[in-house]
Amino acid sequence: MENCIFCKIVQGEIPSKKVYEDADVFAFHDIHPAAPVHFMLIPKLHINSLAGVEDKHRDLLGDMMVLIPRLAKEQGCTDGFRTVINTGRVGGQEVYHLHIHVIGGRDRLPVMIPHPG
Ligand code: AMP
Ligand code: ZN
Repeated sequence: MENCIFCKIVQGEIPSKKVYEDADVFAFHDIHPAAPVHFMLIPKLHINSLAGVEDKHRDLLGDMMVLIPRLAKEQGCTDGFRTVINTGRVGGQEVYHLHIHVIGGRDRLPVMIPHPG
């Protein structure tokens, strides 16, 4: 996909701090970390967003979900972490190549979904 910064990261055209790579996925540290641990797991295949996934991506997405706890632990998340997928305009997505944020550290993260009352 032309002009996609995450495709360029996968191809090594834009530098990144790599966390993990295999034939299908790539993980790298977020350039603006929101917490001591903040990396992103992406498919090498260009998929615009979670809104663009199809049945044919089932195995790929399953593999990514299974990989996350392992990578999170390796990065130092020994007592939990948060996963975030921003989707589309309403979800505040900035980069239109599907990515799963993995965020954590020593301290409890701020509440993301406040409960009324
Ligand atoms: P989102 O708002 O979910 O689309 O998040 C996009 C994320 O990509 C943001 O957290 C950015 O800090 C991160 N980001 C953008 N460009 C780069 C880059 N070149 N290397 C690493 N992370 C990046
Ligand atoms: Zn892409």
